[in-house]
Order: sequence, then structure tokens, then C-alpha cells
Amino acid sequence: MSNVKAIIGHNLARVRERIADSAVRSNRSPESIRLVAVTKYVSAEMARVLVDLNCYDLGESRPQELWSKANVLQNREVTWHLIGHLQRNKVARTVELATWIHAGDSPRILEALNAACVKTGVRPSVLLEVNVSGDVAKTGLSWNEVEELAPRLDQFSGVDIVGLMAMSGFDSDAKQARAEFCRVRELRDKLQSLCPAGVQLNELSMGMSDDFEEAIAEGATLVRVGSRLFSGIENRT
Ligand SMILES: *Cc1c(COP(=O)(O)O)cnc(C)c1O
Repeated sequence: MSNVKAIIGHNLARVRERIADSAVRSNRSPESIRLVAVTKYVSAEMARVLVDLNCYDLGESRPQELWSKANVLQNREVTWHLIGHLQRNKVARTVELATWIHAGDSPRILEALNAACVKTGVRPSVLLEVNVSGDVAKTGLSWNEVEELAPRLDQFSGVDIVGLMAMSGFDSDAKQARAEFCRVRELRDKLQSLCPAGVQLNELSMGMSDDFEEAIAEGATLVRVGSRLFSGIENRT
């Protein structure tokens, strides 16, 4: 395990350094960007290595996998992020464990989250996932849907709706990804003007292993990085 820890430690340091460099290049403070380490490729034991390296924001795309890793790690310092699609029958269990829900991708799931949170009193931070690339295979609200939703976001007062989440297109190169992230930021600014008072869309969850620097240049406050943290590790389970 010590070799694994050395490799992950090296990868993590490099990612943090590049986050900081990108922030500075955009006249932003490195502290304004939160690294969400995506652990979906690896075992709970491997995720624990990240925690031992003081990396406390962990992301999973499948609710059951998040539940299972949270159960194995049992670490109060970990802030869990659900970054993938959430089904309504998994809402209750998930909001007990995850502080951040990145894929608020339909009015129905927002309603279900709101109802569960009103009942239990937990208050996760929720992001609206927007489909920026137009890829049909991608989930997320269309621009029309999210614009329609904006003026009534105060209906979901049991949760904190704090911003947008997006993914670049499957075939986008760095330049295209940056243009897509730019459009997400512009959409956010427009939505902010449509939102009821009290709803602040300050957060932008965008950027993965191959495009987090472009995302930071366009204002990302959360970057979701997985494979880059585990490169060089053969057996990830
Ligand atoms: C898997 C995943 C990531 C991490 O992707 P990498 O390219 O491995 O960094 C980020 N966001 C979402 C939604 C994912 O599903």
C-alpha cells in the first residue's frame, strides 16, 4: 500500500498544483476552487488513501456505491458528493450521506429531494445539471428547461440550490470544452437574474481530468477529477 500511497500522493499534489496555477492565471484565489476526488474507479480502501492524504471531498456517480464507500470509511471528515444521476427511490438514503448533489437533472428529482429534506431536516447543496454540449446521450436539463425552472426555484426551499453542473461534450477538445464552460457561466449569469431573491447560483461544478484547467479559466468552483488521481496504479481494487 505504501507504493500506492506514494503514487496517489504524487498525482494528487500535481493536480492541486495545476488547480492553483490555473486559478492564479485567471486572477482567482486557489482556495475558491474545491477539488472533488472521484473514487468511482477504485475500492473504498483506495479512497481511504486519499483521505489519509488530506483529501476530504470525495465523489461517486452511483448512489449505492456512495452508500457503500461511506459505510466502509465511516469518516466524519469526508464530504461526499453524488456527481451522477439520482433516482427518486434512492433520495432518502443519499441525502443522509451526501452533502452535495451535483446532478439535479429534472424537476421531479428536485421535488423528491425537497420533500425528503423537509422531512428529515438535512440541507444538502444541490446543483442543476445542464446539458451544454447537446449530446443526446448526456443527461441534464436543456437550456429552455432550466430557464423555465429558474423563477420558481424557491419552491425547493428544503434544499440549497447553489449553482450549475455541466460536462463537456464527448468529442470536445480543450478549446471546445472551454467554449462550452464559458456558455455555462453565461447561462448561470442569466439564470441568476431570473431567480427569486435569496437563491444564489454561486457554484459551478465543471471540469474533469482532461479539462479542469479550462473549466477553472471559465469560473469553475468545483472540479471533479478521477482518473488522473489514479494513473500509474495497476490494481485499483
Ligand atoms: C467519472 C466522472 C468524473 C471524473 O472523470 P475523470 O475523467 O476520470 O476525471 C467527473 N464527473 C462525472 C459526472 C463523472 O461521472
